[in-house]
Amino acid sequence: MDAGTTPPITLVELAKGLAHDEFVFYYQPKVSLVGGKVNGAEALIRWKKPDGTIIPPDEFIPIAESTGFITEISRAMFPKLVADMLILNDMDASISIAFNLSSKDFESPEMLELIRSAIESHQIDPDKLQVELTEAAIIDINDPNIRNNLNELVKLGVKLAMDDYGTGYSSIDTLSQWPFSVVKIDQGLIRRMVESEKSTTIVQASIRMAHQLGINVVAEGIESANVYDFLLHAGCTDAQGFWLAQPMPLAELLAFIRSDRRWSALPAGLIHMAQ
Ligand code: C2E
Ligand code: MG
Ligand code: MG
Ligand code: MG
Repeated sequence: MDAGTTPPITLVELAKGLAHDEFVFYYQPKVSLVGGKVNGAEALIRWKKPDGTIIPPDEFIPIAESTGFITEISRAMFPKLVADMLILNDMDASISIAFNLSSKDFESPEMLELIRSAIESHQIDPDKLQVELTEAAIIDINDPNIRNNLNELVKLGVKLAMDDYGTGYSSIDTLSQWPFSVVKIDQGLIRRMVESEKSTTIVQASIRMAHQLGINVVAEGIESANVYDFLLHAGCTDAQGFWLAQPMPLAELLAFIRSDRRWSALPAGLIHMAQ
């Protein structure tokens, strides 16, 4: 190992962290390009060590995914997500919340049943819950259990979003075969638009295709006003990125929603493009 790098996180450490309840959600707001207002947020996990250090998900989600421990994390985090949604609701600041899950979470019905029971007990409104799955996680799946559990999830009224669209190999095919109602264009593709006309064309074509399939489009990684304006006029539905807002703790999200900030929105005559 190079001097200065920290050793990789082990499964034992991860399990201890979970047992000690050290994981929290930060929320990154999403802005509607149609209304110009915050209309949702994505829950992004953070490991908050007892000494105050915050470990980002890229440092522990991969090992959780490869060992299957991710299902333990997802099941432990879902009640926290529900609790946070109830707080937003009580504060009259209810918005749609997106939760990142792994395809492994749908190999067995436990996660589906947790979500079903939260909906049936009226703790959460299915309309306000989105599940994000990465394209990479979906393409190598031929498991009928996963397909069945995802179909059941959609029947509950939960929205399914394809995350990191444009990074895998069979995006279009996957979109046509799975019940997605949202695609999130990967931030790498969005960032490359600045220097590459080809990337711009791909993003424009993806937005058009998604609309023709009746799918909403969220762009990730908006880091400038220019990119925001471009996506607005390209008919993208929602935007998320550091230029709009960073991921933040729930209390800050609440204040952010209450500040009722407005960004520029799609001109009225063009609104049909984004529906
Ligand atoms: P993701 O789901 O694609 O989430 C978006 C990531 O991009 C987040 O990183 C977010 O902070 C970052 N981001 C947002 N806007 C910008 C921007 O304008 N510029 C740049 N450079 N980055 C931006 P984060 O929070 O580090 O999460 C990384 C990944 O970890 C997520 O990618 C997701 O795949 C995974 N992840 C996060 N939370 C969970 C979780 O609860 N469960 C699972 N299974 N995976 C999670
Ligand atoms: Mg995501
Ligand atoms: Mg993403
Ligand atoms: Mg990602």
